[in-house]
Amino acid sequence: MRIQSKLPHVGTTIFTQMSQLATDHGAINLAQGFPDFAVDQRLKDLINHYVQGGYNQYAPMTGVPELRQAIARKKSGLYGCELDPDTEITITNGATEAIYSAISALIRAGDEVIVFEPAYDSYVPAIEVNGGIAIPVRLRSPSYRIDWNLVQELISPATRMIIINTPHNPTGTVLGQADLEALQDIVADTDILLLSDEVYQHLIYDGRRHESVLRYPELFRRSVVSMSFGKTFHATGWRIGYALAPPAITAEIRKVHQFNTFSINRPLQHALADYLADPEHYLALPAFYERKRDLFVQAMAETPFELLPSAGTYFILASYRNLSDLGDQAFARWLTREKGVAVIPISSFYSDGTDERIIRFCFAKTDELLRAAAQRLQ
Ligand code: GLN
Repeated sequence: MRIQSKLPHVGTTIFTQMSQLATDHGAINLAQGFPDFAVDQRLKDLINHYVQGGYNQYAPMTGVPELRQAIARKKSGLYGCELDPDTEITITNGATEAIYSAISALIRAGDEVIVFEPAYDSYVPAIEVNGGIAIPVRLRSPSYRIDWNLVQELISPATRMIIINTPHNPTGTVLGQADLEALQDIVADTDILLLSDEVYQHLIYDGRRHESVLRYPELFRRSVVSMSFGKTFHATGWRIGYALAPPAITAEIRKVHQFNTFSINRPLQHALADYLADPEHYLALPAFYERKRDLFVQAMAETPFELLPSAGTYFILASYRNLSDLGDQAFARWLTREKGVAVIPISSFYSDGTDERIIRFCFAKTDELLRAAAQRLQ
């Protein structure tokens, strides 16, 4: 029997590949982005409480009301927006499901979606499996700034959506107010939708303010914002995220969500609802990760790698141009096998494989592990 692939160019994600290679070679894994810190005991106790308390059957399809209400309160406090928990918030299986369900619900065959590359690797396959056409805007090192005039030129009658991601994975750049305003001018008087992936909303440094689309009512009325608890509470394995969107868009997302995952892990949702009552749990994150970034930058100063600035996320890029002529895919694998530090090659985030000889490190690790990695890289 012949299977006609809907995604003939897609293989196993680079995160899975590099984590496997790291395991095979006993390398320090600074590749796939996940924290290696313990989850707060109070949060674990809350989960235990709800499991023991019998909260073990299906959660409501849209998410448990207490969690949706807690999220609405949190966003109001952070971004000054008033979200209706019943019609504008949907709990999903991680932000990846929020992104997938949104694209699936909103993109039809032939629709064009503007994507900034390097792009997180789930966007383009989610567009293509739904018959959409990804229109890449290629950003270049070292600044990875967006030329909004170029974006304006790429708009066509088929443009249905623009995807932004701030703080940005993999580059660690963040969008500023001027970027959001330029975007607002471009989409004004059009039916173009916006998907804003903000899973690293709390990982932003040097006193910067996160420019969430939730701060821009003119943008939010055409938007889906995807967010996640995994990055915020050191628990990427729990797979709990959410999609924020105005009622008409939320209604469409839920049509897909209900047949994609139906509903999400219930005891965790109740536990997170309680845990969110104390804002300190997320307000402390920028300082926590900024210290990690600075520690890693300092430790890496002894190595021949040239680090690029990281303004947000728990990633930092590095050029190895003065070290090796290998392409980034080969270099990342060589570094993992021979030097015992696994990293992600940035060409994996460009649909045309653009290779600027840059790799990504994840610094969401214990101080000891970061120092040990830098030591190996010397
Ligand atoms: N978001 C994480 C990263 O960029 C990985 C997610 C995954 O492995 N699917 O490293």
